[in-house]
Amino acid sequence: MTAIKLDGKQLSQFMKEQLSIETDRILLEYGRSPHLVTLMVGANPASKMYVQMKKKACDEVGIVNDVYTYPELSEKALLQLIKSWNEDDTIDGILIQHPLPNNIDEVKCFNEIRPDKDVDGLSATSYGNLNATLPAFAPATAQAMMTILDYYQIPIEGKNAVVVGRSQIVGKPMATLLLNRNATVTICHSKTNNLKEHLKNADIVVAAVGKPNFIKSEWLKEGVVVLDAGYNKGNIGDVDPKGILEKASYYTPVPGGVGPMTIVSLLAQTIEAAKIHLTKDKEKQLKRR
Ligand code: NDP
Repeated sequence: MTAIKLDGKQLSQFMKEQLSIETDRILLEYGRSPHLVTLMVGANPASKMYVQMKKKACDEVGIVNDVYTYPELSEKALLQLIKSWNEDDTIDGILIQHPLPNNIDEVKCFNEIRPDKDVDGLSATSYGNLNATLPAFAPATAQAMMTILDYYQIPIEGKNAVVVGRSQIVGKPMATLLLNRNATVTICHSKTNNLKEHLKNADIVVAAVGKPNFIKSEWLKEGVVVLDAGYNKGNIGDVDPKGILEKASYYTPVPGGVGPMTIVSLLAQTIEAAKIHLTKDKEKQLKRR
């Protein structure tokens, strides 16, 4: 068997073109573009790079992205900013770049973002809604993997999915999204006994471990679908590529798999938020007439 590459780079280009058409339509119909605000505190070089990449992607598809960067900020001031953006009808999405400095309770700040503006899906409300199968934006990386599965028409229902990693931003929401689509889901983590036993029955494997080349092809069953969210130093994934082509039916490469699709998910969810806000605004205007 030679596995089919799930080409996130190519798909992200295609999706950006579609999103660009969508923002043109929104501007024409409603007179404004989708609007995202990004807040970054501190000078973490990786965060700086991610913020720039997201801004560039927003520019490409016609989303207005205001970036606010502070060398330092108090928690109170940050919460005040979120409050003002929550109340601003011209803002569709709020993105707080992780990690925040130690003087700020990150979870508390994420939880202040209004769910309909939480386009990165990091608040407890968004997570709870996702679990309750209520409308919610999912964390971008998890959403990216679901979009890849759907684009390549890979069946999910009834499949055994093993998610390795249980972080709030990747593993857990991915497990929820797969469960919501009727997969039978196992979540593994650092305290899991016999990881290999779980993996050998998996039809779909999601790697979100943060350890380079951690999952080996010999642990996986023939025809498995491999989704590698891992992004480690030196562009190395969490799945060892050795032997994957022969073992899997589909796989996401690193780089060029899940990574490029993560930003696209953020863009798509910002546009979705804008559509919700603008439709509501229009309904309100019509009622006033
Ligand atoms: P975290 O460090 O928050 O979580 C790692 C998870 O892996 C934890 O749940 C941990 O278990 C589990 N784990 C660690 N060691 C083992 C082990 N030996 N066996 C089984 N499970 C183990 O990482 P993130 O979820 O934030 O990120 C995961 C990966 O995804 C990273 O490579 C990161 O760079 C990448 N990433 C990629 C993004 C993208 O855009 N493509 C965005 C975000 C992340 P426990 O809970 O018990 O500690």
